Amino acid sequence: MSSIVVFGEIQNGVLTQVSAEAITAALSVRESGSQIVAALIGSGISDGAFPIADVDRLLVVDDAQVTGYTCEAFVSAAAEIAKKAGAELIIVPHTSNALEWAPRLAARLNAALVTNCSALEKASGALLATKPVCGGAVQAQYSMTSELKVVTLSAGAFAPAAGGAAVAAEKVAMGAIDNPVSVVETISEAAGDGPSLRTAKVVVSGGIGIGSAGDWKVIEESAKGLNAAVGATRAAVEMGWVPTTKQVGFSGLKVAAELYVAAGISGAIHHLAGISRVKNVVAINSDAEANIFSVAKFGVVGDAKVVLPAFVARVQELRSK
Ligand SMILES: Cc1cc2nc3c(=O)[nH]c(=O)nc-3n(C[C@H](O)[C@H](O)[C@H](O)COP(=O)(O)OP(=O)(O)OC[C@H]3O[C@@H](n4cnc5c(N)ncnc54)[C@H](O)[C@@H]3O)c2cc1C
Repeated sequence: MSSIVVFGEIQNGVLTQVSAEAITAALSVRESGSQIVAALIGSGISDGAFPIADVDRLLVVDDAQVTGYTCEAFVSAAAEIAKKAGAELIIVPHTSNALEWAPRLAARLNAALVTNCSALEKASGALLATKPVCGGAVQAQYSMTSELKVVTLSAGAFAPAAGGAAVAAEKVAMGAIDNPVSVVETISEAAGDGPSLRTAKVVVSGGIGIGSAGDWKVIEESAKGLNAAVGATRAAVEMGWVPTTKQVGFSGLKVAAELYVAAGISGAIHHLAGISRVKNVVAINSDAEANIFSVAKFGVVGDAKVVLPAFVARVQELRSK
């Protein structure tokens, strides 16, 4: 039986949201008789690790060789899973690790590959994969006609599939590999940073218009005041005001918040590529002609360092009533 294999990711013991989004993507192109096979690579993976509805099977490589991420080991493990599942399509969340291993997997399996997809569609036996190109200015559609296809999926491109009863994990053996790389140390993102940018309902995001590293605290304090995640433009990241993990946009994270407060952000196309699924953009910019106002539901022309704290104070006042 043919199958669509969806590789999930576990972070801090929890299945990531983009893993559930990848199941939605798989369901959108599934043909009758095809199975949805979830897959996990790691060690100590439990039976309940993939609690998402519509998953027919869960294949797991649970092996000391993949305890920490290394590309070579992940490619070997993923290839074994693809073989065992009889995969016709492999969907992988577009994370920084996957960006390294998924293309190598495609090469090893002689499969077609399209990375960073925002939409998938079936048409006359081919898989049509859409992705942003030319810095997000153009959406390109690729027709994939090979027997086996691999796509990586942009976070936030699909709604997450509903939760459901977890199917029991079936173990897949990977065999010993001659791995030239070993993990020396794993450094995790600092805890206590507030809500995760990937899943936050509210994001307060700053750009170069905030002015300086010292002024950046207006973004952090406002985010704290609204129980929001901090986001940033690439320009702010490049100034060293905020770590690269906070970058929103074409080459950063795609967010799907209910509310995105963009302060001192011009609205360059590369930044807008990261907020296309945001429900409500509120823009604060000193330039009334700034492009960010073209996507904003509400906008304030003014100094973000003055307007933003006043906005947060008013929201808190209204909430406390
Ligand atoms: C291949 C490629 C990939 C890229 N990927 C990304 C990406 O993932 N994410 C991303 O963000 N960018 C990305 N960029 C960069 C992007 O093109 C822009 O350069 C960047 O988004 C601009 O950031 P900014 O809005 O902070 O700065 P600017 O464009 O300089 O805008 C600053 C804004 O602040 C306003 N301002 C100034 N003072 C104040 C004040 N006191 N109060 C309020 N407003 C004020 C100004 O009017 C201006 O509109 C990418 C570029 C390339 C080429």
